[in-house]
Amino acid sequence: MINLEDLISGIKSKEKLSISKAITLAENNLNESHELLSRIYKHTGNAHRIGITGPPGAGKSTLVDCLIDSYTSKGKSVAVIVIDPSSPFTNGAFLGDRVRMMRHYNNPNVFIRSMATRGSLGGLAIKSKEVADIFDASGYDIIIFETVGVGQIELDIMNASDSVAVVLVPESGDDIQMMKSGLMEIADLFVINKSDREGTSKLYTSLSQVLSFESKEKDWHPVIIKTSAVKSKGIKSLHSNIDKHHYFMRENGILDEKLNQRYTFLTQQLISQKQTTEFWNSEKNLLLQKQILLNISSRKSPYQLSKELLEE
Ligand code: GDP
Repeated sequence: MINLEDLISGIKSKEKLSISKAITLAENNLNESHELLSRIYKHTGNAHRIGITGPPGAGKSTLVDCLIDSYTSKGKSVAVIVIDPSSPFTNGAFLGDRVRMMRHYNNPNVFIRSMATRGSLGGLAIKSKEVADIFDASGYDIIIFETVGVGQIELDIMNASDSVAVVLVPESGDDIQMMKSGLMEIADLFVINKSDREGTSKLYTSLSQVLSFESKEKDWHPVIIKTSAVKSKGIKSLHSNIDKHHYFMRENGILDEKLNQRYTFLTQQLISQKQTTEFWNSEKNLLLQKQILLNISSRKSPYQLSKELLEE
């Protein structure tokens, strides 16, 4: 039996063991997890949540490592949540992540946690936000969500971040893919990593052109930063631009707005989750299955079936 009092006081004193236990609780969706999250809620809302996304191999983890050094050298604590929806591994990390975690193991100001697919698809986005709340309540100044790819889960998580950096590389033509993916719209910062390679200026120019067409009414005009993570180049500029964005958001009340949106969205999500689970009892599932066994011409339409199920 977990003692919630002890766990909460451990979280508030930034004890890594308590934080780990709380994350496991949230990941496994044990009954106590909502009680825990509910009780720590009032201690959240202080961290700067940064989303870093881009295609595999763009250098996200190398960049995040540079950012960890940059923030910790300024006395800030950093928690990183690495999310890979495509990975089948649960509750564990990939080899590379393990190496990263080991490097920071003894540093009380750094915590890296990997998360992969567990349960339903929508679940991962919710879970990673819950983990962020645990870090937030622990007093971590910076929370970085590092995600691969451009799927719905990534978009969900990026939408829950205060500042979003999209990482591109010069040689792969990823700019075009990104433009199509919906990430363009939510990027506050574009990072052209591997700028030690050819094609950097070309990508810089085409990206600047695209951005210049964007609506002038947008509150924040996205910035483009060139970095070379392996050489730790451009990191200072990336760090200062992320901070600048945060400052801009705070000064213009956008940060509060985002916080309220997250609050509303989570409340709505929790309600639909609960309603769905309660609604679909074995009897209703059976009625649905019966219809599936019929061919389309003999089935009730989804409209009729849903109406009947709701009236059950
Ligand atoms: P991720 O999959 O986006 O997290 O990418 P990684 O950080 O694992 O980097 C993928 C590969 O690119 C690694 O071999 C890195 O050493 C290399 N890499 C990362 N940043 C740079 C860079 O700025 N320049 C060059 N040339 N290689 C880089």
